[in-house]
Parts: sequence; C-alpha cells; structure tokens
Amino acid sequence: MSARVLVVDDQEPNVRLLEAKLKAEYFEVVTAFSGQAAIEKAISEQPDVILLDVMMPGMDGFETCRRLKADRRTRHIPVINVTALDQPEDRVRGLEAGADDFLTKPVDNLPLFARIRSLLRLKELLDELRLREENAEERGLSVATDDPELLDSARVLIIAGEERVIRHISAKLPDTIKVDSEIAPELAVRRTTDGYDLVLVDLTTRAYDALRTCARIRSNSETRTLPIIAIVDPDEVARSVRALDLGVNDIVNRPIDRGELNARLRTQLRRKRYADTLRERLEDSLEMAVTDPLTELSNRRYISSRLQQAALMVSGGEMQASVMIADLDHFKRVNDTYGHEAGDAVLVEFAERLRNQLRAIDLAGRFGGEEFVVLMPEADLDDARIGAERLRAAIYDTPFRLPEDGGELDVTVSIGVAQILPGEDVEAVMRRADIALYRAKAAGRNKVVVEDKAERAA
Ligand code: GH3
Ligand code: MG
Ligand code: MG
Repeated sequence: MSARVLVVDDQEPNVRLLEAKLKAEYFEVVTAFSGQAAIEKAISEQPDVILLDVMMPGMDGFETCRRLKADRRTRHIPVINVTALDQPEDRVRGLEAGADDFLTKPVDNLPLFARIRSLLRLKELLDELRLREENAEERGLSVATDDPELLDSARVLIIAGEERVIRHISAKLPDTIKVDSEIAPELAVRRTTDGYDLVLVDLTTRAYDALRTCARIRSNSETRTLPIIAIVDPDEVARSVRALDLGVNDIVNRPIDRGELNARLRTQLRRKRYADTLRERLEDSLEMAVTDPLTELSNRRYISSRLQQAALMVSGGEMQASVMIADLDHFKRVNDTYGHEAGDAVLVEFAERLRNQLRAIDLAGRFGGEEFVVLMPEADLDDARIGAERLRAAIYDTPFRLPEDGGELDVTVSIGVAQILPGEDVEAVMRRADIALYRAKAAGRNKVVVEDKAERAA
C-alpha cells in the first residue's frame, strides 16, 4: 500500500529520521517544520496521513490538529500525534483535539507502519463515501460528526476470557454506555451481529487466541465495519501489530487508562456514526435517483432508460413490447376545487391502483405531472389494450377517497397505447402513443385508444 505521508516536526533531524524510515518502506514523504506550514501543506498536498509532532513552538500539535480537523479540506486526513512525553494526559489531549492515533518517540518501526496501514485502510473506505458526501453538502445537507450524546446511546460488547477482566474493563467505561459481555469465543463472534456499536476484545487472555476472534469478526460481511478496540500488553508489540493488520481499529494498552479508553472509544463511535450516515445517504440518493418521491413509482429518467433498453431488445428480435401513456382527466379541476394536497392524494391513490393492475414484468413510471407511462414487455397491441382497459376500469369503477374526510371523488383516466417496432427509437413510439392519448381525450375521455396501424408509416 503506497501512500503520501506528511511528516511534521520543528526539529529537522526528527523529520529526516522519519522521512528515511518511511521512504525505505516506499511511502512518499512530504515535510513541514511548523504547525502553520503543516496546515498549508495538508491543503495543497492532500497527504493520506499526517505524522504530527506535539511539542512545537508557536502553534503546537494539539492546536494544529484542531485546525486540521475543523477545515473541511483537511478534516478527512488521518492524523497521528507523535509525542516525546509518554504521558496519558497528552495522549488523551491529542485524541480530544481530533487526532486519530498517537505514537511515542522514539518511534518504533513496527507500530509506525501498522498504525499507518490501519489508518490508510480506513481512509480508503471513507474517501469513497466522502465523495458522495461532498455532493450532499452542495445540496445543503451535512453530516453531524460530533454529537455529545454519542457515548450515551452506545452499545458495547466486551469479549474477554475471564469474568474478572470483564468487570475490570466495564468499570473503566462511562456509566451511560450499555455494556454486554461474552466469555465463550464462538458465541462472542456470533453475538457481534446483534447491532452493537463497538466491540472491546481482550487480547491478553490465555483462554483462547483472541486474534482469531478479531479475524472472524472482520471476515463476516455483517460485521466487517464494526469498530474493534483491542486491549493488549504494552510489551507485546508484535501482537498489537498483528491485530492492527487484521483490521482491529485501535489498541489500548494495559493497565487501562480510563481517559484514554474513553477518548479512543469516542473516536471510533464518531467514525462509525459518520460512515453509517454516509452509507445511508448513499443508499437514499441511489434510491432517489430512480424513484418519484410522491408516488414511489419509477421516475421519468429511469423509465426512459428502460424504454431505451426495451427498444434495443425489440430491434434485436429478442422480444416484443408495448407502451401506454395514461393521463388523468381534468386533473386541473381537482386541484382547483379541492386543493393541491387533495390532488397529490389522488396521484398517490392512482399510482397504487396502477401498481395493482400491472403484471409482474410491467414497469410503471410517473412521466411528469399527472401523466404516467407503462412499459409492457412481451405484450402486443391486443395484450396492451386489455391491460389498459383494466387500468381504466380500476380508476373509473371506484371513487377516490379524499384526505381528511374530504369525501369521495370520481376520477377517470385516458390512455393511449402503441407497440414498439423493430428499428425505431423510443421517441417514435411515444409520439404514436401520445397521438392515441390525444384521440382518447378528444373522444370524451375515460377511454383507451390504440394506435392506428395503418398510420404508422406516415
Ligand atoms: P386533461 O383531461 O386534458 O388532461 O386535463 P387536465 O386538467 O388533466 O390537464 P392539464 O395538463 O391542463 O393540467 C394538469 C394539471 O396537473 C395542472 C397541474 O397543476 C397539475 N399537476 C401537475 N403535477 C402535479 C402534482 O404533482 N400535484 C398536484 N396536486 N397537481 C399536479
Ligand atoms: Mg390530464
Ligand atoms: Mg396533462
């Protein structure tokens, strides 16, 4: 995994040392010697990860980190604080400033590369989602990334080999968190699919190999993105590195420092919330791209593309297909008499009846206003006429109920039908269906008119 790393330290020898280590691992390196320069480089170079010294004159690492995380141009870049002081308070301060991780000087190679790789994996995942998010922000939506109640509603599963350890870990967590625990490793893996926000795994247990537990949580597609924090012994560096490489999101050393554990917990929960929100957005926007929000039928864009596809298949001799255009009669009067909301309710009810009259292979869409289009694969003109008649009757036979006890209303629809011919484009068949619809209107409405075959050539 090659990536660009921004190394920030006010001491040039420190920068050169890290630069050499990273280059030996084929990372691309960018450097900065102050907080201000770091921010500028982060914006202009868009590194994949930032190694940020904490002790710097002027703007220190905490403040630099805070500013990087406050700026939408750099917010998404993972920051690793590098601190000379092995003080828990400093780690926590860094994490509270928005840092994604920290390392202590002198920096060991193994943890350094494992942390970077782990953050790069995360960034890759978020980058894809972030692209969509930028589109969303342009539309005036934004993702809440910091929610003070994040910890209050969180559900956490502790996986450990002994009850004593579970009690010890639980005692370090905020009271507001809902905590469950599991000792049996098989069962523990299964329980992770029960909607938890985060899993804490004790890697120090001798009862079984907890690294395997982590690997199994990661390999299940349902829990692939579920945050895992592993608890390790500080002298088991290789095991921490393995854990991070297996996809564990973060590491907490024993003895557990309450402040650090909670800061890391919050970071992971915030990230999960962010990723979940982005993912939901993405699903919504995919859905929105093809659906008419009022009637939940296909929208014009989607049905047009399916018509295009059908025309190609007809031309290729793979099937026959017909289309109908259905337009509500005197719909303007409904709006004028009962109001726009009643009009909307009629459209929704119409769509519902339309759906009920279709065959499974038919596709209905709202083409615009009170005009609907149905693509009927495998249907010749006679089949299509029967389908259209059935729809006309389903609208005419039963009055529509208006919202809020507004009483009942007779609604009718006029329908034009045409068959897709081999070699013609969608516009041509739609034009013929439109002419048929026009004739249905002219003949008094509440009618189905099928195109005149003799007129096709003209
Ligand atoms: P015709 O029988 O000739 O089709 O007459 P019509 O009144 O149905 O046709 P016209 O095209 O004159 O008017 C259509 C009306 O549909 C006008 C417009 O305000 C209304 N309309 C279009 N979209 C919506 C909508 O989403 N909701 C509501 N309530 N009305 C809509
Ligand atoms: Mg109309
Ligand atoms: Mg109209």
